[in-house]
Amino acid sequence: PTEVVGVTCTAGGQRIRREGGQPLIQLRNVSKSFGALNVLRDLSIEIYEGQSTVIIGPSGTGKSVLLKHIVGLLQPDTGEVWFGGQRVDTMAPEDLVEIRKRIGFLFQMSALFDSLTVGENVAFPLVEHTTLTRPDREERVDRVLRMVGLSGLQAKMPAQLSGGQKKRVSLARSIVLGPEAVMYDEPTTGLDPIRSDLINELIVGLSTRLGITSVIVTHDMVSACKIADRMVLIYDGKIVHDGTPESFWKTDDELVRRFVHGQA
Ligand code: ADP
Ligand code: MG
Repeated sequence: PTEVVGVTCTAGGQRIRREGGQPLIQLRNVSKSFGALNVLRDLSIEIYEGQSTVIIGPSGTGKSVLLKHIVGLLQPDTGEVWFGGQRVDTMAPEDLVEIRKRIGFLFQMSALFDSLTVGENVAFPLVEHTTLTRPDREERVDRVLRMVGLSGLQAKMPAQLSGGQKKRVSLARSIVLGPEAVMYDEPTTGLDPIRSDLINELIVGLSTRLGITSVIVTHDMVSACKIADRMVLIYDGKIVHDGTPESFWKTDDELVRRFVHGQA
């Protein structure tokens, strides 16, 4: 294990870091500004099938903006975005709907519908995007709720749940269509370490058992170490380090060291 100021990043022992397959997601020379604010600056990255790629970086550095480009919620000013061999950023809206079915998205705020039950929240994408019958939908909902450890909570309202449980309901909803990839935006923010661990274990479990390609945005180095096959540090809209979590502790790069130590 490599230990740096209280954060242990164990190579191999704790988890095997998985090699990626083919590139599933590609950003090519993407730049994005809001007015005078240059958020992404000529950023290129390939995200490989079957890996968990963790994007870290300080607040306001463009991490959520990057995720939104992948699912076509934002378009670059210049550059290209690809998913599964299809260009996303110039795609017609009806094709984008199809792409979005293949990508789960766990938003930073859990974004559940307060007036719907847990079961109805999770079933929502099935109602919107499939022709499944009600019994088939219920069976699917039962199955994903079981996967996130929330069996039997179908009839509860979101307000009756803890923060960690709400995250898990959102997680169930984001995988209910059987996506190839899931984007997680700050999945453990606001949760205590025990509840964070539970979410992290779920993310690792889903990506390994179901072969889901995961992109996880976080500024929590402890979580990042636990779930990442690959870690990418974004600073000022650019990638400044890209490698295994272990490589982050070993590097001599001053900026990376400052970030890692500041977080520990
Ligand atoms: P983070 O790395 O914390 O997720 P974001 O990607 O959310 O950061 O945002 C990066 C910067 O872009 C921030 O300064 C944010 O205020 C700005 N920003 C994000 N989305 C928009 C938008 N739709 N309009 C204007 N500014 C935005
Ligand atoms: Mg963000």
